[in-house]
Formats: sequence, structure tokens, C-alpha cells
Amino acid sequence: HGGYALLRDPRHNKGLAFSEAERDAHYLRGLLPPSIVSQELQEKKLMDNLRRYTMPLQRYIAMMDLQERNERLFYKLLIDNVEELLPVVYTPTVGEACQKYGSIYRRPQGLYISLKDKGKILEVLKNWPERSIQVIVVTDGERILGLGDLGCQGIILLTISDYILQCLPITIDVGTNNETLLNDEFYIGLKQRRATGEEYHELLEEFMTAVKQNYGEKVLTQFEDFANHNAFDLLAKYSKSHLVFNDDIQGTASVVLAGLIAALKVVGGTLADHTYLFLGAGEAGTGIAELIALEMSKQTDIPIEDCRKKVWLVDSKGLIVESRKESLQHFKQPWAHEHEPVKTLLEAVQSIKPTVLIGTSGVGRTFTKEVVEAMASFNEKPIIFSLSNPTSHSECTAEEAYTWSQSRAVFASGSPFDPVEYEGKTYVPGQSNNAYIFPGFGLGVVISGAIRVHDDMLLAASRALAEQVSEDNFARGLIFPPFTNIRKISAHIAAKVAAKAYDLGLASRLPRPDDLVMYAESCMYTPAYRSYR
Ligand code: NAP
Ligand code: MN
Repeated sequence: HGGYALLRDPRHNKGLAFSEAERDAHYLRGLLPPSIVSQELQEKKLMDNLRRYTMPLQRYIAMMDLQERNERLFYKLLIDNVEELLPVVYTPTVGEACQKYGSIYRRPQGLYISLKDKGKILEVLKNWPERSIQVIVVTDGERILGLGDLGCQGIILLTISDYILQCLPITIDVGTNNETLLNDEFYIGLKQRRATGEEYHELLEEFMTAVKQNYGEKVLTQFEDFANHNAFDLLAKYSKSHLVFNDDIQGTASVVLAGLIAALKVVGGTLADHTYLFLGAGEAGTGIAELIALEMSKQTDIPIEDCRKKVWLVDSKGLIVESRKESLQHFKQPWAHEHEPVKTLLEAVQSIKPTVLIGTSGVGRTFTKEVVEAMASFNEKPIIFSLSNPTSHSECTAEEAYTWSQSRAVFASGSPFDPVEYEGKTYVPGQSNNAYIFPGFGLGVVISGAIRVHDDMLLAASRALAEQVSEDNFARGLIFPPFTNIRKISAHIAAKVAAKAYDLGLASRLPRPDDLVMYAESCMYTPAYRSYR
């Protein structure tokens, strides 16, 4: 009968929370000990257990076990303890988990599509049991967090917005160039070097076509952690024909712009009054730079080409300047301004005198004492974002930013840092976490039935997030709202994104709901147990 299977189905299992009546109705008698507990008590017990683990990876594995046992309890626990658990299921711990995935692998957590499936991708998609998918999160594993090529093991990064939307994680395995993985007997992916060129693009084309055939126009495909030599091209190509979103380019840009808009309330001035310098000119760096320029242009009516001139980027070869233009990748070219060549970040800081310094290089310890001190020497309140993940790759720590600037820095990072005490006062660093944006953005797209993503929808998301920072938050030094309220924040973002989709004529869900915030809330996944009577 069904009772035994019910307990082993993570979608429906409630463990000891099954009531007497449910135990009778579903043949559960004897399969469970007699005690009946509430979902709240289950949560309390799990948190007690989790806190006993000293190694983050143990917590991660315990969370995965829970997800495989009882999904609703997993998401309820995550939502109710999001500040404490997000660092476990997302950066930084998820990075370590991805690296060690081969040895902790238990059960598939989404779909794997490899070169072996060429010609059969539509069939593969049909093997996934869930039909009501709203978002497909897909990676090819080439640039996972700041950790580089993790081949097939990037998949576990992808399930994170599930607590708001119905997601399907998919990893596309075209091989890996990671020697360690290629030589690892426990590696779960294809043991061959990465396919490139035509072979790569044919597989992706077949995939994108199959997605549309299987799920229609309105499923959002979120690209996650592709290397920049593919990411920009894939986004440009498929944004014309599909509903696509690149989290590393667009999501990052939107969350960082939100942080900037909020930071300006502390520092003063408009976007156009500031000068920006980036370390790192890849997906994150150029994506953020472009969205800053776009918002600046909207606010001032200055043409975007001129707004871009307020933004400078440094890559591994130094400052991006006009004389390097010929040899630059196309996504860097708009940032090649008139300036003599400059080799190091410190020299660039001294020469450009930015008011905002943003790290998107993936290389830790690059915002040195000299760099931060220089920023603090010509800025009353230097804005410093050190965004590279995981923690060890952060351009500087929160403590360094506050100490070296005598606590004048307005600081945010990609991976979380604890509050810092400086001369008796506590400073709380903001976390510029993409998880602020993509669930709400995705929800806004889904509830409006948008069929294309437009940059104005990203700007709407940024403004919506910045609006959620309260006076109280600012007083504690925060430029992002506390994550505890992520569902409220996401509903607010979703409403603004959806409203923009309607205004642009890109929404297909008609009539337009009167109260979009309420509608967004009503469409969110809720992990409270359902009654099976
Ligand atoms: P990417 O596309 O590979 O870009 C990295 C950029 O950094 C490239 O322009 C590279 O230069 C440059 N770079 C590398 N080493 C450098 C060095 N020693 N000095 C100066 N520049 C250097 O990677 P991405 O997708 O932009 O991600 C970069 C980092 O941002 C990652 O650590 C990621 O975790 C982080 N990130 C954070 C957030 C967030 O906080 N919310 C979101 C997304 C990404 P070349 O072009 O010359 O190779
Ligand atoms: Mn990413």
C-alpha cells in the first residue's frame, strides 16, 4: 500500500507530523512511532542538530539529507532561519560542496544533459516528472562562483530560488578542463576536455529549442556560472527568441546597483556625481558597469555613451584604455576610454580618484592596505564593494575595509562577513548577494507571463530592492535589507518587475492584477504542510 511509499516521497513526506487521521487514511499505522509533532517542533529539533556540527560541510550534507527526506520541512527551515542557513546552502559553503560533490554525491538533484544526449535532449527533458516548472536554472559548470571549472559538479548551486519558485536545475556537461577532476576516480561527469565551437553551440541550440518545445514560451531560463567567453554570446543570442536571464551578468548588476542606490543615501550625490573603478572586467564587472551607466542615463537624459565615461575598469592586464581597444574582447570595448596605460590597481586608483571601488576579479587580497588608504585619502566616505566569492577570494575583508579607512568606508561584500568592531562602534557589512534579486525577479517575470526580459525590468528590480532598506537598517550601516524578510522583499521586487513588464507590453497574463504585491505573495511557493485528508 501507499504508506511506505509516502514516507519515502520527499514531496509529500511529513515524518512525525502526520496526524492520527492521516495515519489512518494513508496506511501509515505502525510505520511511524506514536508521537505526533508539529512542523515547528521538527524545525526546532533540526536547528539543534545542525548547530551541533562544527564543520560547515557537515551542515550542508545534513541540509541535503533533509531535502531528500522532506522537502517542505527543508524549505520551511530555510525560510525561517535564512540568515543562518543561507551561508550553508549558498556561498561560501556551497562552493566547498561543489568542489567535493563527487565524494558527497547521493542522489541526482536535477537533470544532467551531456554530449552523450545529443539528438535526444527533448526526451531527456520529458524524463523529469514535474510538469509545472516556472524556472530552469542551467549551468555548464565552467565558472562556478569564483572557483573556476567544476564540470558536472556545479549543479548543486542551482536549487536556491526553489523556496519561492518551482525550479528545475539542469547541468549541461560538455566535459571539463579541470585536471584534478579529470584525474579524480569519484568524478561524476564526462571525463574529457570541454567541447567548444560548433560542437558546444549545437548542443546548446538543441537544448534551448527543446526547452521551448517542452515548456513553451513562458518558462524562464536562468543561465548560471557560464564562463564569460560563452555567457555574453548566449545571452545576446537567446534573449531575442527566448525568455532568458543571466544571473552573473544581469542579476549581479541589479543587486549591486541596488546597493549603490542605497549607499548614495548615506554618502550623498546622484549616480552621475560619482566615479567608478572596477577591478575585474568580466561578466560581473562589465554587467554592473553597464547597468550603472543605463540608470545614470535614465536619471539625467545624458546619452549612455557619455555615462559610460564615468566608469573605469581594470582587468588582468591593467586599466582598460583606448590604446588597448583592438585587442579587447567585445564586452570590454565600450569601457576603453582615453587615458595613458596604467598597469596596477593602485596606480589606477591614484590616477582616476574613484569615489566607488568595486572588486569583481575573483582574486582575493587585491584591495591592499595602500589601495583602501588611497580611497580613504580623497573620499570622506569611500564606497568599497569587494564582491568576489567565496570568502577567501574576497578582494578585502570587512575588517580590513573598516580599519584601513578608519571606519569611513561604506562596505559590502559578495560572501558574508561578521559585523566589525572599530573603536567601540559596531559596523554591519552588507552582503551583495544575488539571492536578493533572482527569486523576486523570476517571480515578477512568471506572474506577469512576460515573454522577454528587458533591461528596464532589471532597473525596476534594483530600485525595488533599494527601497526596502529602512532608516533603521541605514543606522546600523546596512545598505541591503536583512535577509530575514526575503519573501517580503521578493514580493516587492516581483511586483515592480511585473509592473514594468505590463508597462512595456511584454506581459501576457491578462487582465493585469490590481494589487501586484498581493498577487506576487499569493503565487509564492509556501512550504507549510498540507493536510492529506
Ligand atoms: P570573469 O568573467 O571570469 O571575470 C573576471 C575578471 O577579473 C576578468 O576581467 C579578469 O581579467 C579579471 N582578473 C582576474 N585576475 C585579475 C587580477 N589579478 N587583477 C585584475 N583583474 C583580474 O568572472 P565573473 O563572472 O565576472 O566573476 C568574478 C567574481 O565576481 C567571482 O569571484 C564571482 O564570485 C564574483 N561575483 C560576485 C557576485 C556578487 O557579489 N553578488 C555576483 C557575481 C559574481 P581578464 O579579462 O584580463 O582575464
Ligand atoms: Mn552565479
